[in-house]
Amino acid sequence: MRAPSVDPGSTVRLRRIDPADTDGYEKDDRTEQQLASDLVKLADLQERFYAENRRSLLIVLQSMDTGGKDGTIKHVFSGINPIGCQVTCFKQPSEEELDHDFLWRIGKALPRRGNIGIFNRSHYEDVLVVRVHGLVPRAEWKARYEQINRFEKQLVETGTTILKFFLHISKAEQKRRLEARLRDQARSWKFDPGDLAERALWSDYQAAYEDALSRCSTPWAPWTIVPADHKWYRNLVVARTIVKTLQRMDPQPPPPKAGLRRIKIR
Ligand code: AMP
Ligand code: MG
Repeated sequence: MRAPSVDPGSTVRLRRIDPADTDGYEKDDRTEQQLASDLVKLADLQERFYAENRRSLLIVLQSMDTGGKDGTIKHVFSGINPIGCQVTCFKQPSEEELDHDFLWRIGKALPRRGNIGIFNRSHYEDVLVVRVHGLVPRAEWKARYEQINRFEKQLVETGTTILKFFLHISKAEQKRRLEARLRDQARSWKFDPGDLAERALWSDYQAAYEDALSRCSTPWAPWTIVPADHKWYRNLVVARTIVKTLQRMDPQPPPPKAGLRRIKIR
């Protein structure tokens, strides 16, 4: 399954990565089965991860508007026990958040031990929307790439595994999705006229994404670029990547407490 994990130090050119790529896979019974099987594995791995209660997993989802962050959460995490999982959606910072450094609100939302934290948008907004709209001086957002790398490094060193997914859609696909939100009554609540102003800044955003993906793909927290024009393929890739990561971590529930076998329940 093709979903380039960005090599640290390499330069990402999004134009060279086809958002409609499916690596030869098709939307059929086989790929449906594959997703279903990965979701079962994910549920089991999460249960063991929660029982182990030693490490955390942080999953960062970023994309252009309509890129599929919500849909990924809905479809890939459907089998996960909510007890060990928290989703945080990062919106425009509040007045209080703006009175702190940009990582303050991120730190407060990090997953505790045994838990999976899902970030719908993240600290990366502070080098994306903030850069595109010049919300802070250039020197300030430029320094953030390194600040983010150091922050993520410390997290990894202290027991958090980080997976970062960029859901890569084309401008044409965004048009279709925005139109669907306009037409379809069930989806119209999601239509945000503000998205049109952001769409007009498409190439500025792509450039900001290219820099974030290039500069913040590190050995300890690499980015994965997910071709996301096809929702089923996007789900397949994200689920597969998380399952592989958790399998590699191989969580082990703690051994039974001593003397358990001698206990009799009366
Ligand atoms: P949505 O994800 O559609 O609910 O929209 C959330 C909005 O919050 C998006 O327009 C983001 O660009 C914006 N946002 C998120 N984080 C920040 C940030 N750090 N600074 C400014 N805007 C942000
Ligand atoms: Mg929106």
